[in-house]
Amino acid sequence: MLATLRRIIDAVDRAPALDAALAVVVRDVKQAIGADVCSVYLTDTARREHVLMATDGLPPASVGRIRIPLHRGLIGRAAERADIVNLDDAHTHACYLAITDSGEEPFHGFLGVPIIQHRRVLGVLVLRRRAAQRFADDEVTFVMTLAMQLAAAIALARGSGELMRLQQPGLPNHFLEGIAAAPGVGIGTAYVVYAPADLDAVPDKPASDPDAEIKRFRAAVAGVAADIGRLAERMGGTLRDEDQALFDAWRLMLESESLVADTIARIRAGNWAQGALRATVAELLAEFDRVDDPYLRERGSDVRDLGRQVLVRLQHGATQQAASYPSQTLLVGDEISAMQIAAVPRESLAGIISRRGSASSHLAILARGMGVPAAVGVLELPVSRLEGRAMIVDGYRGRVYVEPSATVAAEYRRLAVEERAFSAELEALRGQPSETTDGFALPLYLNTGLVLEQRPLGIDESAGVGLYRTELPFMVRDRFPGEEAQQRHYRQVLTTFAPRPVTIRTLDVGGDKPLPYFPVHESNPFLGWRGIRITRDHPEIFMTQVRAMLRAAVGLDNLQLLLPMITTVDELDDALALIQRACDELQEEGHAVRLPPVGVMIEVPAAVYQADVLARRVSFLSVGTNDLTQYLLAVDRNNARVAALYDEFHPAVLRALMQVAEAARGHGREVTVCGELAGDPRATPLLLGLGVHSLSMGAGSLLRVKGVVRSISRTRARELLARALLCERGACVRALLMDALEEIGLGGLVRPGR
Ligand code: PEP
Ligand code: MG
Repeated sequence: MLATLRRIIDAVDRAPALDAALAVVVRDVKQAIGADVCSVYLTDTARREHVLMATDGLPPASVGRIRIPLHRGLIGRAAERADIVNLDDAHTHACYLAITDSGEEPFHGFLGVPIIQHRRVLGVLVLRRRAAQRFADDEVTFVMTLAMQLAAAIALARGSGELMRLQQPGLPNHFLEGIAAAPGVGIGTAYVVYAPADLDAVPDKPASDPDAEIKRFRAAVAGVAADIGRLAERMGGTLRDEDQALFDAWRLMLESESLVADTIARIRAGNWAQGALRATVAELLAEFDRVDDPYLRERGSDVRDLGRQVLVRLQHGATQQAASYPSQTLLVGDEISAMQIAAVPRESLAGIISRRGSASSHLAILARGMGVPAAVGVLELPVSRLEGRAMIVDGYRGRVYVEPSATVAAEYRRLAVEERAFSAELEALRGQPSETTDGFALPLYLNTGLVLEQRPLGIDESAGVGLYRTELPFMVRDRFPGEEAQQRHYRQVLTTFAPRPVTIRTLDVGGDKPLPYFPVHESNPFLGWRGIRITRDHPEIFMTQVRAMLRAAVGLDNLQLLLPMITTVDELDDALALIQRACDELQEEGHAVRLPPVGVMIEVPAAVYQADVLARRVSFLSVGTNDLTQYLLAVDRNNARVAALYDEFHPAVLRALMQVAEAARGHGREVTVCGELAGDPRATPLLLGLGVHSLSMGAGSLLRVKGVVRSISRTRARELLARALLCERGACVRALLMDALEEIGLGGLVRPGR
């Protein structure tokens, strides 16, 4: 029986489409069990019925015609109870439902096995026999096992829209849900991308000639570097200068010590180039995998992707053939790398859809930067069945349509036309002041530091940098960077933006962002040793960083210093004393350094309640709503299971923001917001109403937020805030703000259309 089971499962797996898979099942199961009929009914929840989709034994004309109301008959019973119904004589059961002309009359023995996936009943697999005889235990378990396999095939077909077309021809308007990653509507043809080479499959082998292997490896790295250069050139006409910086980041990573030197060391130790590369990449990935922070973990996928590119070169000595992309390409994949996006000519790229990823993944950051609509984390995306299919991605809602109906497609085409007009209006805001209709200026700053960019995105549009995260330069090395290396790094950022201010945050590693060379093992890392807690315990790390920052600012004087995770006054006092000491020491050493304005991040609830005490000691407060939301709501910001509870519009977050703004005002200090909330156009009226002095956000949000600022008065913003403060739920706050955006004609910032 096991061999038969395997054979049927294999045949189901290989079937090109669901109807073919069902045909295999009904034929082979009937034969294997020696039953007289085998049928599959699939549940159509919209129409509240179970539809006969395939049969061997009933008249073929019954397929699609026999439709059993959701809770009726023996099939309804098996589905409703999600349990097996095994009867010697169906006709005598109270639930038996005789259907005229179904051809079922001669059959007495009945076995109904529900087809279930993730606790959801998708249909019922039914066996019938003439004799009044129950099915034996081993027959039942055989059918159960098959039903489980079938569930996966059905779920896949549902994902591709195939099931909908089979059940309701002419009505394919089902969509798949994912995470909205970059706003916009993309209509086009699916182009599926796969990982270029499977590093994990590479075995270890002794290197017969290590020197020749090293030469091969170096040539492969140089080849990939040249590929990146060519891509960068090709994109030159379509991307803004600053966007090109991503390519520099890849080159830096590709030629980094940890990738090149370690692989060469492994070759010298006796492994062949491919095996040495696999081992090096695996080690780097293990380091990145230990990081919970989604931003930094994304850097791991870059390393893996570069490793694969080098492997392709080692395997074939050249890159893959040039692909031919549809004119409106929707790039589809399980996981899509930044390199794969860059390979599509910009004018052909209509959208990006991936099964994995989160809103803060590199993919999402890049898509937003390029203005390409994207949905990520589309878990039901049947990647292998989508090549060449017509699709639509709604990047506002994270929805994906496969072969949409004419009505759906026409509606999205109309929305896309409206959107193009809207984007042109937003573009017109470039260079315009970020000022309310009643003349209040709200400067918009940039969050940067997540990728090793030489010229970060959004330089021209921002008032400066509101948050420069310094973790990355620490993560990509194999030891703490020294004062000189850090000084050069910070100098570059400060110079790029001078004379505009650049707020550099001191190291915020630990807990969820461990350094590979500074392991910290904790059972509750978010409540553990992180941010200022680490640097306070290690003044030498803090002093080195602060000295580097102060020296980098000499002659530019546009540095502002920001302290993360402050929870107590003592932490702040100690940090301020160290900053003063660093400044004094440097002056004694003859450096023309100045004490910069220092700010505190408000991201721990304790800091909200003591915001006044903290504000008294520093020049400005900067609210980190990402962590503040996580700590106020006790919801891990990286845990998908509780993602629905993570709500930056929760009334508690709003009240905390109120309290911080009041405390800052009380001491005449500026307050800014640098968490993701600052880049959400819905939040702009609230933050304006609160009287924050500036906002800091990702490059892609600058024009969108500016659009809101320039369309609203501060008086109206204050009214909205007052109404939002009456809300008892986050949903109420969001609905209020959505209405407000619609009212000023900017609903198109957060939903499809104008
Ligand atoms: C925050 O917590 O809101 C913040 C801006 O810092 P990070 O996302 O780096 O923790
Ligand atoms: Mg934070």
